[in-house]
Amino acid sequence: MEGRVRGLEYVTAMTRVLVIEDDAAIGRLLRHSLTEAGNTVAVATDGTSGLTLAVQEQPDVVLLDLGLPDLDGRQVLRMLRAVSRVPVIVVTAQDDDRTVVEALDAGADDYLVKPFGGEQLAARIRAVLRRAGTPGADRVVRLGGLEVDPAARQVRLDGSPIELARKEFDLLWLLASRPGEVVTKREMLAEVWGLPFGGGDRTVDVHLSWLRRKLGETAAAPRYLRTVRGVGMRLAPPAED
Ligand code: CA
Repeated sequence: MEGRVRGLEYVTAMTRVLVIEDDAAIGRLLRHSLTEAGNTVAVATDGTSGLTLAVQEQPDVVLLDLGLPDLDGRQVLRMLRAVSRVPVIVVTAQDDDRTVVEALDAGADDYLVKPFGGEQLAARIRAVLRRAGTPGADRVVRLGGLEVDPAARQVRLDGSPIELARKEFDLLWLLASRPGEVVTKREMLAEVWGLPFGGGDRTVDVHLSWLRRKLGETAAAPRYLRTVRGVGMRLAPPAED
């Protein structure tokens, strides 16, 4: 899926994640937290269907459990590497060095040892996408007079730099990476604060109002930050009039 906005320098896309995991509970949890964070998720419950989906769906990143019912995860990885360069994060219950080394040798880009949190997972996905040079993952976004540079973590408004606190920047980048699209407060909590199950609406509101002030606008007279009542916020260039 893509969000297109007039006058925008590039088009961003949601990350498509393929999860290959036979444990139904973990599969559901991953699907939930990844979807909440704004990704598109497909789940395969064995290695064979995982390989099929990897070819058919062309995901941006694969999360691969090493213990699968039909094939060994390292075998899946070698077969996948024969047909695709998609970034693969291996998910393993075994944290012994040898398993991890074998997975990396078989072509994994990174690994996670169970259990792991949603925030760590999101960070690992961002990192492998960045290293893979996925278009748009690390590009400067320009919307009207607003310029957001995720690599340098710098923001300029009408040519002048703006100082943002860490969470303010993360929040702005989340909105800027999906220009024109409504981002829900739950997505903001999941992506910026690592709270995929909500519980911090007030925090989001406070940071949004700080961000607004730094962008030189108010809720009554918005320019870039458009409140979508009861849903969330979207970032768009100021209305031309
Ligand atoms: Ca398993």
